[in-house]
Amino acid sequence: MEPAGGFSLKARDDRFLRAAATVLKNYTIVRRRMTERGWVVFDVQGGTEDYVVKIHPEWHGQPQCSCPDAAQRARDDTRGFCKHIIATLLKHDEFRGQLLEVFL
Ligand SMILES: [Zn+2]
Repeated sequence: MEPAGGFSLKARDDRFLRAAATVLKNYTIVRRRMTERGWVVFDVQGGTEDYVVKIHPEWHGQPQCSCPDAAQRARDDTRGFCKHIIATLLKHDEFRGQLLEVFL
């Protein structure tokens, strides 16, 4: 797989808006009790489909989401940060710093 190439400020801001207006407001983000090889796992429910977001507490890798946007458009435009990842990071103080990835 090719590494993420471009970056679009508009695409990023658009996803922040959707994260705040849709995901944080209407979806449920549930943190699983068990981690997966050090990754903290969240179930994001409430959209047309449920997705899984994984975040590494020590930032050993980029946050991941199982949604199609993370694999395609967000991968090309916002370093893989979809609205589910952004909302999950926004919601949890301890992980919020990882949002810097899309500001630097
Ligand atoms: Zn996603």
